[in-house]
Amino acid sequence: MDYCKLADMLFPDVTVTPDDLEAKYPERSLPEGAKVTRIAPSPTGFFHIGGLFPATVCERLAHQSGGVFYLRIEDTDSKREVEGAAGFITTILDYYGLHFDEGVTADGDKGDYGPYTQSQRVDIYHVYAKKLVAEGRAYPVFSTDEELDELKTLDKKAEIKSVNWEQDAEARREAMLKRREFTMEQVESELAAGHKFALFAIADGDPEKKIKVTDLVKGLLEIPENDEDVVLLKSDGIPTYHFAHAVDDHLMRTTHVIRGEEWLPSLSKHLMLFRYLGFKPPKYMHIAQLMRLDENGNKKKFSKRDMGANLEDYRKMGYSVDAVNEYVMTLLNSNYEEWHTQNPDKDRLDFPFSIKKMSVSGCLFDTEKLNDVSKNVISKMTAAQVYDGVCGFAKTMDPEFYETLQADRGYAESILAIGRGGAKPRKDFAVWADVKPYMSFFYDRYFSRDDDMPADKDKEDIKTALKKFIDSYDENDDQTGWFEKLKDIAEQIGYARETKLYKKEPDKYKGHVGDVASFVRIAITGRQNSPDLYEVIKILGRHRMTDRIKESIALL
Ligand code: GLU
Repeated sequence: MDYCKLADMLFPDVTVTPDDLEAKYPERSLPEGAKVTRIAPSPTGFFHIGGLFPATVCERLAHQSGGVFYLRIEDTDSKREVEGAAGFITTILDYYGLHFDEGVTADGDKGDYGPYTQSQRVDIYHVYAKKLVAEGRAYPVFSTDEELDELKTLDKKAEIKSVNWEQDAEARREAMLKRREFTMEQVESELAAGHKFALFAIADGDPEKKIKVTDLVKGLLEIPENDEDVVLLKSDGIPTYHFAHAVDDHLMRTTHVIRGEEWLPSLSKHLMLFRYLGFKPPKYMHIAQLMRLDENGNKKKFSKRDMGANLEDYRKMGYSVDAVNEYVMTLLNSNYEEWHTQNPDKDRLDFPFSIKKMSVSGCLFDTEKLNDVSKNVISKMTAAQVYDGVCGFAKTMDPEFYETLQADRGYAESILAIGRGGAKPRKDFAVWADVKPYMSFFYDRYFSRDDDMPADKDKEDIKTALKKFIDSYDENDDQTGWFEKLKDIAEQIGYARETKLYKKEPDKYKGHVGDVASFVRIAITGRQNSPDLYEVIKILGRHRMTDRIKESIALL
């Protein structure tokens, strides 16, 4: 068959050649070892938390090596498309500090290797489609929609390796061989009738033979050669992922393709296409899907429907950017935590991220661990940083609280400074949303009496202790002097000055100094637990302290 003639018949409008495209998108001039990476999401308006892992790997590898990190939008499946999705993706990744150098932005394309949206690259794919037809590597299939659907079902089954794998494989093989048989006259008449065609690449592999390929995380893999024809273009002329991946990652000069493990079964198809197209394949890294623990502590895939699957939710839940990033790094590189402990003042971006330290089995997402990491991260922040973080969150999520905080920054910061800055800082906050309940009693508009005085203690003793506390309070006392007075009060009402005295001889006392502190705490804060009481009273001031204690006495 005259394949050149066939190519001209199928793609009469394509005049550009692969050489023209090579010239238009030349090798990038980057320093030796610089990596070019990309993320290539579909514009669904949803960014899975799991996507942050490959995105972070891509960003780190590119920026650590002086390379390029870009965003490509893979919108070949128009059914799933959501308006404005590219802007959404760049905004959310920007928020997490992952900045693209190139690609789709909310204001259009940036960079010399575009267009970066696949639906705008159809002409480019057709150049290579034509080349493959001309070289006898690809053929058209004129099918009704039903027939194409049938093919799709077979392809899908192949990908999920159904139980009827053998049977399906045979059916597929037969259908495939039949598809390859056609004459030039048939093509001519189909085209004359205005029928559309899908384009397939002829597989030349022998599944008994293996291709050796190195995955950067999984190591050396031996995968069977591909013996299934690959759909390159659907009948609307739009490419499949397989074809677009080869063309785009070549022309955009991607050096490292980092993507989900679900693409591993298609790798032999991709390598075949790179070979047919005369392209050097990129380096591959396939990342296992993010797992999570279910209610029973078992590992499960983190699916789109699970709570907390959407990256956007973490902002709304009030996780700080630093905490999420710190957590992602902790999961991605096994030595990150240790490094950060040894280098507490260094930035996450100073960490020498290494592919070798990545786990082969993938990451397990565990909210408890995230919260731990997050508490740690926030505990190391200054009061001013916490203030800014909370305000950023409250501005949209709790405007009233935002206003309260804004009304007096100094006051809010003094509250947030309690227990901060020392060797063992308090770890009260996992999310910004935890801050309001923590500090609410400092604000009269939010103050409430949540905990009662202990029922087993004599009310008159409590009242006496509280009155004495007001009388003895002196704002000039230091913490030791202040506590000595509390001990005196304890003694005066028949309580032990020291907890250990009480523990030694419990029958001798009605309680101990800790109980007295508790009465004062409950009276002032409305709770059994609060930050350092001495500091709390200093911030609230004598006036409010007195009012609250008096109110509490009246309630007894
Ligand atoms: N659009 C593909 C996906 O969302 C991209 C895979 C890749 O990174 O190559 O799975």
